[in-house]
Order: sequence, then structure tokens, then C-alpha cells
Amino acid sequence: MNPKIGILGAGQLARMMAMSGYPMGFEFVFFDPNPEACAGHVGELMVAEYHNELALEEFCQKVDIVTLDFENVPVETLRFVQKKKPVFPSPEVLEIAQDRLLEKQFCHSIGVPTAEFETINSRSELKFAAKKFDYDAILKTRRMGYDGKGQYRIKSAENINQLPEDIFSQDLILEKRVAFKREVSVIVARNGLGDIKTWPLCENKHKEGILTTTIVPAKSLPLDDLSIEYAKQLAVALNYIGVLVIEFFQTEDHIFVNEMAPRVHNSGHWTIEGAHTSQFENHLRAGLNLPLGSTEMTGMAAMLNWIGAFPDGVLSITEPDLFWHIYGKEPRPGRKIGHSTLLASSPQQLHDKIVNLVKKLG
Ligand code: ADP
Ligand code: MG
Repeated sequence: MNPKIGILGAGQLARMMAMSGYPMGFEFVFFDPNPEACAGHVGELMVAEYHNELALEEFCQKVDIVTLDFENVPVETLRFVQKKKPVFPSPEVLEIAQDRLLEKQFCHSIGVPTAEFETINSRSELKFAAKKFDYDAILKTRRMGYDGKGQYRIKSAENINQLPEDIFSQDLILEKRVAFKREVSVIVARNGLGDIKTWPLCENKHKEGILTTTIVPAKSLPLDDLSIEYAKQLAVALNYIGVLVIEFFQTEDHIFVNEMAPRVHNSGHWTIEGAHTSQFENHLRAGLNLPLGSTEMTGMAAMLNWIGAFPDGVLSITEPDLFWHIYGKEPRPGRKIGHSTLLASSPQQLHDKIVNLVKKLG
């Protein structure tokens, strides 16, 4: 029998997971409160709220195993589902990854460094902590943030006075700004047999908190091996099953974990064409306790995100080693609606191909 995989959350990550699973004969059912969720274009979509137990019960009956495409699925939903069907990653991991404070505390518990931080419950606590960080910090909500949402740059005491009072009704964390040289991510896959694999290091560029570009492999620097080692240590310590992504800040002589994503990740989209096995396939393999596929790549890859809108006529642009991914989502400012991957055999060739594509797009 073909395994039937249930995915909580039906965005582009679920969609790409399914598209990687179909050639292996897997089947998919998605669960999402949004009837327009774009994975629904490629498989059965159940539309219900995450705490609708009747709907979850029906969902569990349809599938053999459950995973997620969104780290803010309520932990109680995952706990409910876990009583009926195997779930990966586990509710315990999700609980940590949903909360920037628990995430940082977990890193520290195994000796993995993060940016300096303070928990914040009031404006006066914020004033005290911001001063400690020389007014060079970022205030973040502990939960529910993504794509830079729920973040406030603090550069002065005035910034703090200007913040609306209702911000302080949420649990907050203040992070010292890391003057990083670059941002990188490590994609790790681990299955229940303890097999663990990482893809080459990804170098990421963000604009206004949203990922815009990933280049792989990142130009080699002395701290790279340590980033990969920390990511593996975290996966093992969490007893993680599936794909886990760790985002890092690299400075001249230090690395700090920024955050972890308990799921496949935007910085791993290039693996579809750029690696022997994609992050999506290995996530499914890990959950099904199958051997993990090779994570090696041949050459280099660049992933360019399309945010808000596509330039006109993109599909008329064809190039060898250029791949378009359009998610079928309604374009909206700040929304990720697709990406392109470019493959090349050298850094110079990759650079030329990016410049050429940008030129063609006008
Ligand atoms: P999200 O969950 O929205 O991805 P992140 O914490 O990863 O939130 O923040 C988004 C981006 O904002 C980061 O990739 C980085 O570019 C910038 N940023 C966040 N925190 C810091 C920090 N402490 N120091 C420097 N830059 C930061
Ligand atoms: Mg991030």
C-alpha cells in the first residue's frame, strides 16, 4: 500500500512536499483553515480550524502519518493527532520551536550560542534591557513571528516611547543586534534510525526580514564546519525526525543561532533541482523511516524569491538550468508567491546567470 501522508498547513511547502512525494507513489491529504491554501491545487484539502477535533479525527482516519508545513500549528492539535497517528516532528519539538525564548534556552542547554537576549514584559523592562544593549537591538514577539513580522528595531530611547502600549500585552524578547558578516542556514534531515545528513551551507539575503536570495554552497569560511556541527547537535538533542533548518548569524570570529524551523524551509528550495535529493523528499523519507537520499550537489545553485508579484511574462523566459516555481497564491505585498532556481558550475557563471535573468526581467 502507498503511504498516505497528512500535512497540517497547506501552503507552498506542503505543495512542494506533495510534488516530491508523488513520484514515489505517496498520497497526500492537507488540512488548513484557509480554503484558498495553495497545496489544495495538487491534492485533497480538508478545510477546518486547527482545534476542530471532529475534523482532525476524520483527517487522521484518512492518513497513515502526519507532518506539518507551518510551525504555528497549535501544539494541542499535534498532541491530539499524535494519539491517533504517528506525527513528525514531535509536539515537544514544536513547543520549543514556536517560542523564541524556549528555542534560545534549548540552544544554551547544549552549549550552542545565540544572540544575547532579555525577556520583556513591560516598557520599563524594555528601557532597561535596550540600554544594556547600547540601543542596538530588535524587539520580537516570542511567538507567531515569521517573515520579519512582530519585530521592532530599537535604535534609541525615543523608539521605545513611541511603541504602542498593546505590544506589551504579548510575551516579548529583546535581542541584541548581531553585526553579522553574513547569514547562513543549515538544512538537516534525520530519520528515526538516527541517520543524519546535511546539505551544503546556504547563504541567505533578507530584505525587511523576508528571505530574498539563497546561494549554495556559501563561500567557504572557517566557521562553516562549526555551523554544520551545531545544527547536527541540535537535531540529535531534540531527537528530531524530518527536516530541521537552523538559521545562523556569522561574524568575523563567532557564530550564533538566530532561529530554528521545525520543517522544510525557503532556504532549501534550491535542493529540488540543485541536489541529488530535495529537502522535501528527505523530509518524507525521514518520517517514513526510509534511508535518506544523497544531499550532495553538483555545481552551485541560486534561489530567488518572488515576493508580492511576478514581473510580467516570466514563463516566456527559458534558459538551461533555470527553473520557475509559481505557487498559485493570490499576489499580495510582502507575500511569497514563487521562486526561481538557477544552477551553474562556478561562482562566476552563477553570478552571470543571475545578472542575465534580472536584466531579462527588466
Ligand atoms: P523570522 O521568524 O521573521 O524569520 P528572524 O528572527 O529570523 O525572524 O528575523 C528575520 C531577519 O531579521 C533575520 O534573518 C535577520 O536578517 C534580521 N534579524 C533578526 N534578528 C536579528 C539580530 N538579533 N541581529 C541582526 N539581525 C537580525
Ligand atoms: Mg528567520
